[in-house]
Amino acid sequence: MKRWMVVLILGFAVYAAGILMYFGWADIYSLPPEMLGTNVDPETFMSPDQIQRAEALSRVRSIVYFIETPLQLILMVLLVGISIRFRKTVERLTRRRVLQLGLFVLLFLSLVYALMLPFDYLMLLVERHYGVSNVATGTWLTDRAKNLGIEWVTSSLLFLGLLAIMRRSPRRWWVWVWMLSIPLLLFVQFIQPVIIEPLYNEFIPLREGPLKKELLRLAAESGISSENIYEVNMSERTNQLNAYVSGIGSNARVVLWDTTLEKLEPREILVVMAHEMGHYAERHIFWGSGFGLLLSFGLVWAGSRFYEVLIRNWGTSRGLSGPGDLAALPLLLAVVSLFTLLVTPLNNTASRLMEVRADRYAMRLTGDGAAAASAFQKLAATNLSPVTQPRLLQLFLGTHPTIEKRIRYFNQYKDTSAP
Ligand SMILES: [Zn+2]
Repeated sequence: MKRWMVVLILGFAVYAAGILMYFGWADIYSLPPEMLGTNVDPETFMSPDQIQRAEALSRVRSIVYFIETPLQLILMVLLVGISIRFRKTVERLTRRRVLQLGLFVLLFLSLVYALMLPFDYLMLLVERHYGVSNVATGTWLTDRAKNLGIEWVTSSLLFLGLLAIMRRSPRRWWVWVWMLSIPLLLFVQFIQPVIIEPLYNEFIPLREGPLKKELLRLAAESGISSENIYEVNMSERTNQLNAYVSGIGSNARVVLWDTTLEKLEPREILVVMAHEMGHYAERHIFWGSGFGLLLSFGLVWAGSRFYEVLIRNWGTSRGLSGPGDLAALPLLLAVVSLFTLLVTPLNNTASRLMEVRADRYAMRLTGDGAAAASAFQKLAATNLSPVTQPRLLQLFLGTHPTIEKRIRYFNQYKDTSAP
């Protein structure tokens, strides 16, 4: 075995042991003593069994996240050899570049999916064991196949575009990549609710009634012009609760999971939806994308330099012909995930800021802090989310403020009656 491999494996083993110790045993879910017995204390609204399961599930998920993420990076680097063999195979099969690329991406993605399948399946078993997932193995496998199909088409198109840009502009390709990401991002937001989401679930218009009337009123107040309020059948996949507004412009739609309709009271649904509409009314998609684009300018520049140095100093000696080689795809993906990972804390901070604003918006629109607090108690209990979590988790996985913080904020509006 080569020396760098030994160092890599040893280093990773030490890191993994640290992660296991910390997330496996450390006391990381306790509330400050002054919060005990209040309405943020899970003891007051969850059963001891639910509390125990929520903690255990969060520990498992954290361990998986912090071990799997670097492992996937390492895996990509290790796949370069096989990737070169794949490239040689597709070059033998056809001379047409586009076909070569399509076939290569399919071979490569299939291999990655196959390698990850056992781990993903294990995670599914865990989620089923804790009672948050209901998905049947057949549906789960079909979903994986759909993911693979969508990823094959999108990655092939992206990769094709990227290689074309690299050929045209070997030195400034990163600027073009960055500029083209703007319309691409908007396009994805636009087609997401009408093309991608229906591939997985059936969306039906929400049935007429007082709830729909109230939701339409909130939507109109929030500037959502469409009458698109949908119910989506998620109960055969999960017990968790969720609701969202997706898409932009005329494609915008308000979506409620059927689990949410089933488990929350109308008042709670209204305040949750008012939060979601806040994201829309305050154009958080645009702010979020704008922030991402600013950040990505520096990121794409640094990432592209790093990628080229990596190819020159390491890749070429292993048989890669240059940055534009098909077989360099795993290294490209590794660089993208590494740089994305580095800015995850920043992105999450921006996301939490927008969540706080959406909570404020919901309180302005409904003033119903009591319903919001009870909705989040139910959310914690059914989604099995601990109400608080350590900083390290908030940094990398905290897209929302902790439930403790949110309920404490809603408590300020607890006594004002709904308008
Ligand atoms: Zn939100």
